[in-house]
Order: sequence, then C-alpha cells, then structure tokens
Amino acid sequence: MGQTSCDILIVGAGLAGAATAYHLRRSGAEGVVIVEREDLPGVHSSGRNAAMIRGYVENPRVGELVREGAEFVRTGELAEFRASGSVLLGLGEEEVAPRVPPAVGRGLWCPNDGVVDVSGLLHGYLREQDVRYGTRVLGWRRAGERLEVDTTRGRLSCRLLVNAAGPWAGEVGDLPLTPLNRHLCVTPPSDALDPDWPFVWDIPGGFYFRPESGGLLLCACNEHAASPGDYDACEPPLEALALHAQRVLPGFSDLRVKECWAGQRTFAPDREFVIGHDSRCGQLIHVAGLGGQGVGGSWAVGRLAAERILEGRTAPNAVFCAHRLMDCQAHTVRPA
Ligand SMILES: Cc1cc2nc3c(=O)[nH]c(=O)nc-3n(C[C@H](O)[C@H](O)[C@H](O)COP(=O)(O)OP(=O)(O)OC[C@H]3O[C@@H](n4cnc5c(N)ncnc54)[C@H](O)[C@@H]3O)c2cc1C
Repeated sequence: MGQTSCDILIVGAGLAGAATAYHLRRSGAEGVVIVEREDLPGVHSSGRNAAMIRGYVENPRVGELVREGAEFVRTGELAEFRASGSVLLGLGEEEVAPRVPPAVGRGLWCPNDGVVDVSGLLHGYLREQDVRYGTRVLGWRRAGERLEVDTTRGRLSCRLLVNAAGPWAGEVGDLPLTPLNRHLCVTPPSDALDPDWPFVWDIPGGFYFRPESGGLLLCACNEHAASPGDYDACEPPLEALALHAQRVLPGFSDLRVKECWAGQRTFAPDREFVIGHDSRCGQLIHVAGLGGQGVGGSWAVGRLAAERILEGRTAPNAVFCAHRLMDCQAHTVRPA
C-alpha cells in the first residue's frame, strides 16, 4: 500500500478530509496521506447532497465559516458554479412567482446563492494528493510520540491523525456525533420547468426544491437518526413531499419520482462543526460534524483545520473546538 509511515494521516476522502489536505498542501505541508475506505471519493455524504451554496445560515458561527467558503466556491476556481440565486421563503416579502411561476409565497431574494458541481470541487481538492482508496481504518493507538493505525491494508504510522470520517467520525474519533438520514427525490424531465430557476427553500416549512437534470430535485427536510452508512434506515417521506409541494408549488402537479436517495448529515449535539485537537490525545484532530453545510463550508473548514494542525494546538475556548464534546474523565483513547 505504498509507504507505511507518514506525517499527517487523514481518514476520509470526503469534502472535509479533501479540503483539509488541499490547504495543508497550499501551506507547504509534506507527508500527508489520505486513507479512504471506498474505492473512489464521494460515495457518502459528499456525493449524496443537494449541492446548494447559500449565504443564509441560522447559526452565526457556522454561518461565518460557510460564507467564507461560499465566497471561494463562487469564484469557480475548482468547479463550475451556477449562480442561480435563491428565494428563502419566510425570510422576506418578495413574491416568488415572478422568478418561479409554479411557486407561491414570499421570501428573501439571495442573488449570490447557487449550485456547485460537487464532484468537481471534491476532485479539485484531491488533485495531486496521496489517496489510498479501499483502505479502511480499523483502529489506532499511541506508540510513543506517534500513532499506529491499523487498516484493512496493513499498519501505518503517523505523527498526526485527522478524523474526517463523516458519518463514521463518531466511531473513528470516539465522539458523540449522530448521522441523520435525509432523502432527496428527483422528478422526470419536463418542458414546464426552467433549468435557470433559483432554488427555493421554505425555511419555516422545511422544504426545498431546485431544477435538476430537466426535472426538480425536492427535499422534505426529513431527519432520522441512523447508523453510519445505513441509507435504508427509513422510508423516503413521499407523502410529506407531496403535501409540501401542494402548498408551495401548486402550479406543478407532475410529482412522479424518477430517482430518490438518502444521504447522511452528521451532527454534534449542538449542531456546530467540530474542528480541532482532541483533549484526550494531542495527536488526534477532528474535522467533523459538518451537518448540512459541508459543501458550502468545505473550503473554509479545510482552511481552519489546516491552520490548527500546523499551529499544533487548538485553544480550549476556540470556536468549533472539540473539547466541548469531551468529558475528560469519562473517555479513553479508542484502542486499536
Ligand atoms: C441530503 C443531503 C443534502 C445536503 N445538501 C447540502 C447542500 O445543499 N449544501 C451543503 O453545503 N451541504 C449539504 N449537505 C451536507 C454535506 O453533504 C456534508 O456536510 C459533507 O458532504 C460532509 O463531508 P464529510 O467529508 O464530512 O463526509 P463524507 O463525504 O461522508 O466523507 C467521509 C469519508 O470518510 C470515509 N471513511 C469513513 N470511515 C472511514 C474509515 N474507518 N477508514 C477510511 N475511510 C473512512 C467515508 O468512506 C467517506 O468517504 C447535504 C447532505 C445531505 C445528506
């Protein structure tokens, strides 16, 4: 599996791990290796999302980082960005119908929002990185100043271990993180739909839609706690979707579902990101709990993670610090 010793070992080639590796490389760090359990990147959350880039986020700390990340995504430097704009129902007084004729309601027009090519973004972050695919981390332990990491392809030794394992980050890093399943459904192509429409998000109602592949991508914003990788833990909420659509999209009746899939949004109990050193093991750094903001936020999440890794510490009161999730008395470092 190539060299068995490296400086920084990142677990997970999703947006969190990839963006962290991207910024480490930009900062001149060497000896960075990513291990990914799947045979290709983007199999889990980073390949199962709605790809929407938005400036409005309820939590102000998360919002600040997401807006920083969104600014980079909008440049289109790594991946195509479609500046569709968005209408956020419930947050403003502008009629949605002139922009999206089948829809009703009033909202806030956000011209800077849009949709990104997530696969392009992920591959852009991963360009020229040393990624070992098909390599699952099974456990790790301290070995003097270093860590020994057991994988399905043998043992690796590293100075620092970065937990960017998405839905599995709770298991890899012994953290209280919960993956919540959410479904996205796509309707068949229709001439009645305009691919240039903005995305519409009914914030109080919990429903969003946007053009996708000639049809509409619809989401009823369902949440169902599940084990990592268990996408069948709950049924798609088709009835709820139909009710939301009747209410917000009365001018569009063809709600047949051509395609539907679940993805996992992984959260800390306070729903804030987890970025920084572990208080139980200084060689472990978490980049996890990105919830529903990991596409838009990825560039800035990676920037902050790389900064903390290179500084060598995360202050216990720093924003997104992992210390808040740890009862130092109650946890032990996860054994291999
Ligand atoms: C339905 C849905 C809609 C969303 N919509 C949006 C949106 O519109 N805008 C937005 O900004 N965000 C959105 N998100 C959120 C975004 O997709 C996530 O926040 C982001 O993808 C999380 O990235 P990640 O790298 O943490 O996780 P992942 O992409 O899951 O990556 C983690 C990686 O770690 C690997 N891994 C796990 N355990 C191990 C191990 N032991 N050894 C080796 N590898 C391992 C996994 O295989 C995986 O590839 C949405 C999410 C969902 C589910």
